[in-house]
Amino acid sequence: MPIESSPISQCVGSTLRESIFAERDQPPFDRVAMDGIAGDSDTWRRGERRLKLQGVQAAGAPQTALARKDYAIEVMTGAILPAGCDCVVPIEQIDVEDGYATIRPSADVTPFHNVHRRGSDACEGAQLLASGTALRAPEIAVAASAGLARLRVSRQPAIAVVSTGDELVEPGEPIAGFQVRRSNAYAIVAALLQRRLARVAEEHIRDEESSLHERLGLYLGTHDVLVLSGGVSMGRFDLVPKALKHLGVEEVFHRIAQRPGAPMWFGVGPAGQAVFGLPGNPVSTLTCLIRYVVPAIAVSMGAGERAPERVALAAPVTVDGPRAYFLPVFVGHDDSGRPWAHPRPTNGSGDFLSLAGTDGFIELPPGPNTYPHGFVATVYRW
Ligand code: AMP
Ligand code: MG
Repeated sequence: MPIESSPISQCVGSTLRESIFAERDQPPFDRVAMDGIAGDSDTWRRGERRLKLQGVQAAGAPQTALARKDYAIEVMTGAILPAGCDCVVPIEQIDVEDGYATIRPSADVTPFHNVHRRGSDACEGAQLLASGTALRAPEIAVAASAGLARLRVSRQPAIAVVSTGDELVEPGEPIAGFQVRRSNAYAIVAALLQRRLARVAEEHIRDEESSLHERLGLYLGTHDVLVLSGGVSMGRFDLVPKALKHLGVEEVFHRIAQRPGAPMWFGVGPAGQAVFGLPGNPVSTLTCLIRYVVPAIAVSMGAGERAPERVALAAPVTVDGPRAYFLPVFVGHDDSGRPWAHPRPTNGSGDFLSLAGTDGFIELPPGPNTYPHGFVATVYRW
């Protein structure tokens, strides 16, 4: 995906496509870290405990200066440390009376105590964020601290989510006994929105060559990514691969040695559009979306390599065929805080009701094999 410049307030969830450097030392001055009084630790060391209050150094005010060593200045958190002062005694450790502050014996009055020293977190020009970083709340704060009102981020792909199938009926519409609710497109859009991929169009196409040609042709002209559900298997009305080829989408692969989701199709359109044909069985659709489509989009947006989440199996699992096995799991923690993947097998790839309440699925290598309790596998979260 190309780079665009976006107002920082709209960048959360995006991938940063520039490196960000400190505008100034961080903190930019010796920063008062507690509300209290600032003074000279030497004076305290010499035994002086009662200091005349000379004035106030507020946050956001230019630096004042200590007029005499046995004076003190009232200071607020976030203020610049007044000149001539080298420490801050918190308000809880002083008693104020008649314009004098008396420091309690328990106070710790050492140089630069309660002072956040200039440049102690980063020096001016230091790299704070690398290109490829995912922008969450802390990274947004760091970028703002560097003085940037706009950030260079990946443009969001325009994604078309298209379901196919003559049997499918929209929620809210009357339905006949032989028909099926259209749920996949809702699940796909939900998974994309959860990842802040919001440029999503969505529609349903009947299993009919001319409609597929017309509508898919249209989406190829307007969208970067097409995510199709259904119509990629071996049935008489699985017309999607043929329609895509007709529209100039080049097949990269059809079928993967995996369960569920074996019929998955992938191709690249004439303008480089990524076209994913996901099998319509709802467990397959969602599994393939999370396993392939979501990571592909993340990479296209310049996301840096992220270590996979690995969790141990809470119970042995047998994989019978020579195909990778995606097993829904619930990730729970034991009394020592260790995570375990608890298998929640479905009643086949049509049984998406069992997915409710699961955290995602693990990928087990092709069998035949029995993976024991404690076998560590990669988890993909919904
Ligand atoms: P297909 O991949 O088109 O052969 O569909 C496989 C199975 O998934 C069939 O039982 C379909 O009814 C079902 N299915 C396909 N698309 C959807 C959808 N959008 N929502 C729910 N079920 C679907
Ligand atoms: Mg179908």
